[in-house]
Amino acid sequence: MTDQIGRKIDFLRLSITDRCNLRCVYCMPPEGIRTLPREQILRFDEIEEVCLVLAGMGIRHIRVTGGEPLVRRGCAGLIGKLKALPGIETATLTTNGILLAAQAEKLLAAGVDGINVSLDTMDRERYREITGSDGLGQVLEGLDAVAGKATVKVNAVLSPGRQEDAVALALLAKERPIHVRFIEMMPIGRGKGLPPLDEERLRTKLEERFGALTPCPDRLGPGPARYYRVEGFRGRIGFISALSHRFCPACNRVRLTAEGYFKTCLEYEAGCDLRAILRSGKEPEEIRRLLREATEREIARKPEGHHFAQDKKETGFFSGEEGRGMSQIGG
Ligand code: SAM
Ligand code: SF4
Repeated sequence: MTDQIGRKIDFLRLSITDRCNLRCVYCMPPEGIRTLPREQILRFDEIEEVCLVLAGMGIRHIRVTGGEPLVRRGCAGLIGKLKALPGIETATLTTNGILLAAQAEKLLAAGVDGINVSLDTMDRERYREITGSDGLGQVLEGLDAVAGKATVKVNAVLSPGRQEDAVALALLAKERPIHVRFIEMMPIGRGKGLPPLDEERLRTKLEERFGALTPCPDRLGPGPARYYRVEGFRGRIGFISALSHRFCPACNRVRLTAEGYFKTCLEYEAGCDLRAILRSGKEPEEIRRLLREATEREIARKPEGHHFAQDKKETGFFSGEEGRGMSQIGG
């Protein structure tokens, strides 16, 4: 399955809930967002139906996300089912890690291929400031429960001036078989107007502390991270910098929101409502045909890329056209 400019689309980012047990400052307002009524969220059988159709069209990798996916009961079971779909090669999870230790056994038994844990600091007080919760200990327990048993990556979104957080987080990759990736802040939702931490500065800081970061060709999954090897480290250090190192020309992903909205670019609202098709009351064969037709049409017109930087030049600040926040899109 390729889009209008020949990009091969094989990666689905699948949000299974818009609810979350944290309130990260760059993602959610402290009071939370108005969550959708349960009946507006896709049921697991509906999600499987969409994934079956997409697998038939060339999707090979599914990453389950949210909101916080582990707050939805049965997440591990769903991952097991997605993995079993014909054509699906990997089923992975992105989580804030709070419920990871409690669900690690089930997730590993379901065959989860990789777990990305979002963690922005190793300092307990700073963690509380960022997330509104005193949960750092739980996240670290979660990491220990899965490290070495699946591919584990830590994703950190840092603000300018937080280089010391980066150093402490990088040590996780020294001491454990965990890859640590630094993700540039994106002007989406509460992240609009928040400045990103400059990748070059961050790399310089890490090299001062740990020695050379040697680029390595490993992709370690279907995503856009660029990885580096550090002498004496068990895991790699990676960077995902959507603004300063725009990777749109190689973008291979599409997204499905928890309410069944199929999206082909993080920045734009462009997409289509698959829930309406799933609940149209038509025969199963017809529903599959319509799902295929709608997703093919959207993929064919997937935007060439985001224009955050261009917006900044014109307006002086990063802006995004998408009205949803990250927790509603699925990151
Ligand atoms: N709750 C889960 C978690 O935090 O891992 C999954 C959903 S969360 C929306 C997915 C990822 O999006 C997290 O790694 C989070 O740090 C990241 N994220 C949220 N808002 C962001 C922003 N404005 N810019 C960059 N990354 C963001
Ligand atoms: Fe929740 Fe993830 Fe957003 Fe934090 S980044 S508020 S954990 S959805």
